[in-house]
Amino acid sequence: MGCTARDVAGALRAAAAVVAEHRDELVELDRAIGDADHGENLNRGFTAVVSTLDSGEPETPGAVLKAAATTLISKVGGAAGPLYGTAFLRAATAVGDASELDGAAVVAALRAGLAGVQARGKAVEGDATMVDALLPAVAAAEEAGGDPAAVLAAAAAAAEKGAESTVPLVARKGRASYLGERSAGHLDPGARSTALILRAFADAAGAA
Ligand code: ADP
Ligand code: MG
Repeated sequence: MGCTARDVAGALRAAAAVVAEHRDELVELDRAIGDADHGENLNRGFTAVVSTLDSGEPETPGAVLKAAATTLISKVGGAAGPLYGTAFLRAATAVGDASELDGAAVVAALRAGLAGVQARGKAVEGDATMVDALLPAVAAAEEAGGDPAAVLAAAAAAAEKGAESTVPLVARKGRASYLGERSAGHLDPGARSTALILRAFADAAGAA
């Protein structure tokens, strides 16, 4: 079954709920290797996405993703705001004006999101950033294929493993990189939030 605009909006609302639930955890992860604002930043952004959707849901999946992107760019701030915003904006462009997204379109959206994050932030695998969650997620989504729920379930599982893989790494991008070797031994907050958001999308798609 394909994802309609309503389904995409529902997935974003589910992500907002998960971000709110994990706000403090993300703050603590960022306190260890950054400036303790990641949970706050994302919660502010996703709360604003819900307000945007409440004031009128756009009619295509791409328009919903674009509305989320522009809201995140204007509200999140820090490093993560432009990165998440770019990811959603590229995903919006990738799906165009289709009225429903099949599994292949969801894979294309994820791939475009990753390309946007990498174009913007220049992080590669192993730099201990959200790319370490998103890159394996895209690979797993491509490999899995199938309907949107199957694609997103594969992406979420790989993102969770990818996020865990940041623990031993020395951060080479973003604020955590200022700590040099001392950044090792910590879960990257952006990788964690990426895994949480993809899990929320997968659960929403599975329940649809
Ligand atoms: P800030 O670092 O400005 O306080 P946040 O705390 O909201 O912003 O976000 C930090 C997260 O952003 C990091 O955990 C990391 O995952 C991600 N990040 C930072 N810089 C980059 C980058 N260049 N590429 C990809 N992700 C990045
Ligand atoms: Mg921070």
